[in-house]
Amino acid sequence: MPARVYGVLSLVTFAGAVAIAVWAGWRESPALGVGYAALALVSLLVIVAVFCGKCAARDRCGHVVLGPIARLIRKELKVSPYTSLELTLTSVLLALTFVLPLGWLWRYPLALGVYALFLVLGAIDVGARVCPACNNAACPLSKASS
Ligand code: SF4
Repeated sequence: MPARVYGVLSLVTFAGAVAIAVWAGWRESPALGVGYAALALVSLLVIVAVFCGKCAARDRCGHVVLGPIARLIRKELKVSPYTSLELTLTSVLLALTFVLPLGWLWRYPLALGVYALFLVLGAIDVGARVCPACNNAACPLSKASS
């Protein structure tokens, strides 16, 4: 299967996990559901601007849509090693997006199970198929530089 198919599959699983977290948050209170959805969207855009914006492989992005979005946000590509601040910001936003929902998902065991399954499948897909095919040598997860 082409690497891009795996990229799309990982996006679908992560988007599915976020959708479940929004649904469960909404059941707690509409403000929580909307607030979390906004946080997830803003986090994604910041990560794309900060991380994908410097990615040398963004024109052949394994995640298909993130590269083009990065091009829209940052037209000029300036490739350089990621700074500690950029790596920390990316990690914190990812953690906020995917750890925060556990605070309310535990009240919905079935939703929590599907959420965890989507995250695990997405992580396996990215680790086994998407990252190995990526040429972003500056990424700490990339094997392109080794
Ligand atoms: S390959 Fe990775 S870092 Fe590069 S644009 Fe795509 S998702 Fe972002």
